[in-house]
Amino acid sequence: MPTNLTLAVDQFLQRLIAGERHDADALRRQRADGLLDDEEALKVVRDVLFYNIRCPRLRKLEDREFCACVTQAVPLRGPRMPSRAQYGVSTEVKNLSPDQYTTFRNVRTQAPAGASVVLRRHFGRCEACGRSKERLGILVTLDWHGRPLSREYGLEAT
Ligand SMILES: [Zn+2]
Repeated sequence: MPTNLTLAVDQFLQRLIAGERHDADALRRQRADGLLDDEEALKVVRDVLFYNIRCPRLRKLEDREFCACVTQAVPLRGPRMPSRAQYGVSTEVKNLSPDQYTTFRNVRTQAPAGASVVLRRHFGRCEACGRSKERLGILVTLDWHGRPLSREYGLEAT
């Protein structure tokens, strides 16, 4: 971790503590006791910088949401067929419903200044049973003192 980033994290935490924000006492104690390293502190930085984004976080796709191999009843004999799910992500997003578009526009408005806001399509497909599922996400990335900080929000179909 570059020293200037550590310095930026320290200054950021100092401002939170001085402003009595984000459980300032806990931050002060954890940082003083060496329990809040830079990686942990960057989560706090993200919490604060992305605070205005009012959208649930993206739920990760899981085998059991679409793969018949893992949802079928356990057979009486022999092992259950294992899932052979493959996952991927693409920035090719074709259609949004009006509600999804509204959510996307809100996130773009709520994102911190200078952040990039990108639609992404997450997909999973099981090679054994052929079933698949997609989920859209809104990836928000902010370059913060040379370090990209990002969070992805869910764009569920309604
Ligand atoms: Zn399957």
